[in-house]
Amino acid sequence: MKSDSPPNSAKTFHVKSFGCQMNVYDGERMAEMLGAEGYVAAADGADADLVVLNTCHIREKAAEKVYSDIGRLKRADGSRPTIAVAGCVAQAEGAEIARRAPTVDVVVGPQAYHRLPDLLARAARGEKAVDLDMPAASKFGALPKRGAGQRPTAFLTVQEGCDKFCTYCVVPYTRGAEISRPFADLIAEARALVAGGAREITLLGQNVNAWDGEDAKGRAIGLDGLIRELAREDGLERIRYTTSHPNDMTDGLIAAHGEVDKLMPFLHLPVQAGSDRILAAMNRSHSSESYLRVIERVRAVRPDIAISGDFIVGFPGESEADFQATLDLIHQTGYAMAYSFKYSRRPGTPAATMDDQISEEVMNDRLQRLQALLNEQQQAFNEASVGSTTRLLLERKGKLDGQLIGKTPWLQSAHVIAPGLAIGDMINVRIVSAGANSVAAAALTEEVA
Ligand code: SAM
Ligand code: SF4
Repeated sequence: MKSDSPPNSAKTFHVKSFGCQMNVYDGERMAEMLGAEGYVAAADGADADLVVLNTCHIREKAAEKVYSDIGRLKRADGSRPTIAVAGCVAQAEGAEIARRAPTVDVVVGPQAYHRLPDLLARAARGEKAVDLDMPAASKFGALPKRGAGQRPTAFLTVQEGCDKFCTYCVVPYTRGAEISRPFADLIAEARALVAGGAREITLLGQNVNAWDGEDAKGRAIGLDGLIRELAREDGLERIRYTTSHPNDMTDGLIAAHGEVDKLMPFLHLPVQAGSDRILAAMNRSHSSESYLRVIERVRAVRPDIAISGDFIVGFPGESEADFQATLDLIHQTGYAMAYSFKYSRRPGTPAATMDDQISEEVMNDRLQRLQALLNEQQQAFNEASVGSTTRLLLERKGKLDGQLIGKTPWLQSAHVIAPGLAIGDMINVRIVSAGANSVAAAALTEEVA
């Protein structure tokens, strides 16, 4: 039994996003679109008339989670909200979702969510509304313009999809081919975000550094050109970008790290593995050496840059010696932070049918050893910042009275007791102590560089 209110007169909604920052961005755009349609964000997701589960398909666990979440939406009185499954699980599993979970009303892929209002109207007429279309770039033009009430840090998707086909990865299938959004649209969206209160923008893409376009004068530019243009916007104080592929770190983008003050000294550059044999089997099209060379060149122009990465342990055929090569690469790089995962076999990807799949036990052991090293490096990076002065952009309230949490330029979470200050303020601080995942800061009255 559904809740009493039909979807088109439903008043409240809740969008729950899983997975990457691009999903967070998509979730925000869906929320804005539903707002424009007259829906109101539910104070508590549990009571919403419409729940959108914006899913992630990258690893099996993430993909399976959606089914338990759907089950949990049933309320004690037997009613349930209208349920829409969006995101990459929707794209990958399509109508199968509605068969496996009959309470799902709408299934919409990541390139078609601008049609959510129409799909909800169809669901209200009792149809199972499924839309997995991948129209090139059109969804952005169909979404409502961005406006007031932005958080101090905002995401801006500039590029979508992937043509690289790493053998373990579902992204080229769920997000489609690489597209770059037009320059003028991005400048307009960035301006709207800044006018709405954003002071930091993170440019997003599955391969963000593959972005290309034409500037206002019709000149061909890459991501560095876009960053340089955005850096001229008054009110925008910090620029970041993620996620990058090592092969798309162009000379211009590397140079921008040394020249553009607003570009923060942080680079998330996934490598996945340190063994060239495994990198080849992954179809990464770079070697450990070429990766290290990129890091060296970025450090040459921006010596204080914080490096982050992604790692997969237990890719099919990974020997202990291959794994040691990953640990060696981590030692050589020195990471400020990183994400690491056990290889997850994804149906339809080439690696899923490769021989020599690695046992769960070996993967667990390797992941533990890898994470111990990465945690050590993160702690060391945080400790090295103790005593330095810097600027924090305050993003949210902390647990303690008067405590606010912000980010340093190096993307460290920093907590500070700062009565009288507000979210969105940029303040001068000294880092006073370091933990594994964050640092403590003290507010300063004097200016810092
Ligand atoms: N485009 C980025 C790159 O080239 O590294 C990565 C984007 S991907 C959405 C995010 C991360 O998920 C990857 O860097 C990889 O570490 C991880 N990942 C992707 N497929 C995976 C799989 N089958 N098993 C485990 N981790 C996976
Ligand atoms: Fe996936 Fe590889 Fe594309 Fe990154 S570059 S999104 S890991 S296929």
